[in-house]
Amino acid sequence: MLTQLPRCSSNSSPACVKLLGLASRGLHDNVSRTKLFDPNATSGNVITCNAAVVRGPKQPFLMETIRVDPPKKMEVRIKILYTSICHTDLSAWKGENEAQRAYPRILGHEAVGLVESVGEGVTDLKAGDHVIPIFNGECGQCPYCTTKTTNLCQTYRVNPFKSVMENDGKCRFSTKDGEPIFHFLNTSTFTEYSVLDSACVVKIDPNSPLKKMSLLSCGVSTGVGAAWNAANVQAGSSVAIFGLGALGLAASEGARARGASKIIGVDINPGKFDKGKEMGMTHFVNPKDISKPVHQRIREMTGGGVDYSIECAGNVEVLREAFLSTHDGWGKTVVVGIYPTPKMLPLHPMELFDGRSISGTIFGDFKGKSQLPELAKACMNGVVNLDGFITHELPFEKINEAFELLCDGKALRCLLHV
Ligand code: NAD
Ligand code: ZN
Repeated sequence: MLTQLPRCSSNSSPACVKLLGLASRGLHDNVSRTKLFDPNATSGNVITCNAAVVRGPKQPFLMETIRVDPPKKMEVRIKILYTSICHTDLSAWKGENEAQRAYPRILGHEAVGLVESVGEGVTDLKAGDHVIPIFNGECGQCPYCTTKTTNLCQTYRVNPFKSVMENDGKCRFSTKDGEPIFHFLNTSTFTEYSVLDSACVVKIDPNSPLKKMSLLSCGVSTGVGAAWNAANVQAGSSVAIFGLGALGLAASEGARARGASKIIGVDINPGKFDKGKEMGMTHFVNPKDISKPVHQRIREMTGGGVDYSIECAGNVEVLREAFLSTHDGWGKTVVVGIYPTPKMLPLHPMELFDGRSISGTIFGDFKGKSQLPELAKACMNGVVNLDGFITHELPFEKINEAFELLCDGKALRCLLHV
């Protein structure tokens, strides 16, 4: 529980998108957000701006005035317009994995913004471009980027242990007194301005709706890609999805778009089932309502097990249930959840002889820079429905409330207006 955070106000019902405290700000559309922006005024200079800084595990975010250095070689400074909170931020904020603790720090990795300036050598981006930060970068040139088999870049792949810039091992953020502030997940989006490696910045069509595009920065891309790329869901197949946050629901959208005929949602919070229906789920299991293991129930519902299971809860016991709920002979389990626990994969090696397979995916196996623009187009064409993922909106200053909403299972994505 987030005992250190202020409790939410009565505005936290998930029934519809809540615009909490934003009415008087007039910050609701692409035009007003981009018009206020003048990169000529800041380019080449240190920018002084606001950021939500965390100074220790489970400590409330403090809105601080920080300094943001200009971008160095192959780096980009972006003005963040909207950012939201993913469960990965929540885990990092809790500091569950000791090795990942670095403070003071700017968390956040799901956002959309505008390029303010670029460093030496950056040719594919320029001031004013509409962009999405990606935590799993793509340099385009390394042996990993030049093969189709992986989306892990040699240098800019996701690295939860990294807290400084690749170029020089230093921070581009500092306090007013010059104390360095650490980076997070190649991105750091809980700030008005951030500096990223250009390998972690994707240009999008300036006509696409900014708010929805922020979803492609992590949650929706990862979930949809888990179904499309990692599981490779086929038409007419059955899928079980464990954990119905934005990631699990996006996986359902992906499976629905591929023509899956049965999509079973599993969650201990039945409040998620209505959203599940909206996103293509056909059946639901609440583990708390049944007296047998979930995998047994799913095998009964599907004549032996689902073709695919996707774990989006980040819990090893749940992962075991997901694995066992697939059909022997061909069942495929895709791991999406992030596990702060030191526990190992909960499988006996002999169980793999039953023909079930298991693999993990980062960012839904999409190569961010080269494939995200296509996914954005597919979303704009209605192949993937982005409606419904942004359940709440809040001003940036209310970031502690936004964390509370995710933690309490009330929000899918709470969009912060930065
Ligand atoms: P979320 O907190 O919004 O959703 C998690 C859901 O899991 C909740 O609905 C919760 O009720 C449910 N849940 C919790 N315990 C459960 C249990 N025992 N059985 C069934 N359901 C249970 O989280 P999110 O933002 O959707 O993220 C989901 C996971 O994906 C997190 O672990 C996150 O760190 C991870 N993630 C992975 C990647 C990647 O690239 N692999 C990217 C982003 C996020
Ligand atoms: Zn994320």
